[in-house]
Amino acid sequence: MVYLGCHLTSSKGYVHMAKEAISIKADTLQFFTRNPRGGKAKAIDPDDAARFRELAAEHNFGKIVAHAPYTMNPCSKEAKTREFAHMAMTDDLERMEYVPGNYYNFHPGSHVGQGAEAGIEMIAAMLNDILKPEQTTTVLLETMAGKGSEIGGKFEELRAIIDGVGKDNIGVCLDTCHVHDGGYDIINDLDGVLAEFDRVIGLDRLKALHINDSKNPFGSHKDRHACLGEGSLGLETFQKIMRHETLCNLPMILETPNELSGYQREIALLRSLA
Ligand code: FE
Ligand code: FE
Ligand code: ZN
Repeated sequence: MVYLGCHLTSSKGYVHMAKEAISIKADTLQFFTRNPRGGKAKAIDPDDAARFRELAAEHNFGKIVAHAPYTMNPCSKEAKTREFAHMAMTDDLERMEYVPGNYYNFHPGSHVGQGAEAGIEMIAAMLNDILKPEQTTTVLLETMAGKGSEIGGKFEELRAIIDGVGKDNIGVCLDTCHVHDGGYDIINDLDGVLAEFDRVIGLDRLKALHINDSKNPFGSHKDRHACLGEGSLGLETFQKIMRHETLCNLPMILETPNELSGYQREIALLRSLA
């Protein structure tokens, strides 16, 4: 079963997002859990969440992906920033229980000169503190482009975080633009990259995909998304992904620079490639 969706605005609630998704023939979606600038998140309306669960079941949605604010940095040098990360994730995961059994994706963080090892320790410590066995949400570490002091540009770093947490409800979301920019050659050797993922992390941890073309060349460590077929990855790469037996059953989320109509076109395009 192929599940395709895109990043949507969450300010009008879950039902609004579901209706937008349905209108463009999507059967999953992604949204930011809160304003990236911080502050308190909007309270969840339990009725809105309940109606969303009904709609999602009715339209055979796959798992949806909540995305943490990208300003969240659990391995910042500043205690205040680390505390915001802790507060935001704790609160987000509580709110996610209104739509149980889905995914919560976050950028692992930037160590800002403290070294990857120290950063990984701080990220794992935060997750150890926050993750509870009774939570139904699976937390996903996103593969990053390795821009600046970003952690997660190498599969080994994600593995080290997972090892440091030692819990089951943690997985990985693979972003096609990020891994390409990060130096994993999914254009010419998708199978090789997945074999490497399996060797280092384990493919059982791979739970979702971000489907983006890249404005930058291979290994550029840049992270700028392009529309499908308009970047260096090209449509052939996305065709291989759509036809790959390991990947084609994972929720695939577009984060391309598009309005709703553009997402509708890309979702139709991906279905035609499958
Ligand atoms: Fe992301
Ligand atoms: Fe992404
Ligand atoms: Zn990105």
